Amino acid sequence: MSDAVTEAVAKTNLLDLDREGMEHFFADILGEKRFRAHQVMKWIYHQHVTDFGQMTDVGKALRAKLEAVAEIRPPNVLFDKPSADGTHKWLLGMDAGNAIEAVFIPDKGRGTLCVSSQVGCGLNCQFCSTATQGFNRNLSTAEIIGQVWVASKHLGNKTHLNRKLTNVVMMGMGEPLLNFDNVVRAMSIMRDDLGFGLANKRVTLSTSGLVPMIDRLAVESDVALAVSLHAPNDELRTELIPLNKKYPVAELMDACVRYLRNKRKGDSVTFEYTLMKGVNDSPAIARELAKLMKSFSNKMQYADAGKVNLIPFNPFPGTRFERSGETEIRAFQKILLDAGVLAMVRRTRGDDIDAACGQLKGQVMDRTRRQSEFKRKLEQQGVSDAA
Ligand code: SAH
Repeated sequence: MSDAVTEAVAKTNLLDLDREGMEHFFADILGEKRFRAHQVMKWIYHQHVTDFGQMTDVGKALRAKLEAVAEIRPPNVLFDKPSADGTHKWLLGMDAGNAIEAVFIPDKGRGTLCVSSQVGCGLNCQFCSTATQGFNRNLSTAEIIGQVWVASKHLGNKTHLNRKLTNVVMMGMGEPLLNFDNVVRAMSIMRDDLGFGLANKRVTLSTSGLVPMIDRLAVESDVALAVSLHAPNDELRTELIPLNKKYPVAELMDACVRYLRNKRKGDSVTFEYTLMKGVNDSPAIARELAKLMKSFSNKMQYADAGKVNLIPFNPFPGTRFERSGETEIRAFQKILLDAGVLAMVRRTRGDDIDAACGQLKGQVMDRTRRQSEFKRKLEQQGVSDAA
């Protein structure tokens, strides 16, 4: 490679490449053996090394070559904050003006990292604070896997607390299926032994229900699927999730059936259901949801093909929704359980650092004007802490 070429071309951030990309980069761009790619991946993901100079089993000449054309550039940690309950939140700078959040949640025997896929979100789900921020852009593969890298480095430094990252959920800011290629590539690094080595079932993608993309995911990746359902019928679901107009409940459930048929028998889809007072938490709606879940299991011909995750609504400034009462939450769960539907209540963690579902905000240079509309609405209501 001539100097003129190397100077003209921006350095490749190796965090953007999965194993296949790394092998291609080393073999076809650098003219090196493939196993060199594997060595470098281990330095990056197992040792958290970003300086080629420290990669002691990589020859000097190759290290110099790498320095000229490549870099390992994780996101900038702008701010990080532990919660009293062990939850940890990072604010990560993506570029000038944009920042996203990632949250680590330790729980009996496991540690889950909640990862963002976009700066903001364009879907405008009525009960989600990210929606009020508007949308700026998709995250790159490096920016997605970089969140896992930052958290795992941080946790690695604290082994004495016996906390370890065991699960990743794509449940942070953004709709992961609208950033398909970068998300799939990042999830492949999460599950690769040369990356973070997580089992397939321990990486979960959560979607608001983009039917064609669920079908594509079934073919192109092998991860657990979670679907944000929040209502068992179209009338209510469209009110909460505008995307439902395009992909109604019946079509969404059929896509979930197709997804599972592509996977191992016995696998399940998790249906997220945020409980909002007087909106979607009545016994009649619980029965309707139970029926929908039973029909899903019947189609799969095994029990528990669908699991319901009940999430008590997490409030944010300016929202018109409220969390359901404890009695209603219990009653809703009981109706599902009595009907033979697996249903768990997901208890809120990280309350003191606004790290719960639907509360991640980051900093979004909005390009949809949603943020300014929301701020205007808040001002009208006399709410001032909307920054
Ligand atoms: N866009 C994807 C990923 C976001 S996941 C999706 O929709 O699935 C975040 C989960 O938290 C989703 O199930 C979302 O519907 C839910 N959620 C959003 N706002 C919430 C809130 N204020 N309280 C509780 N759950 C919320």
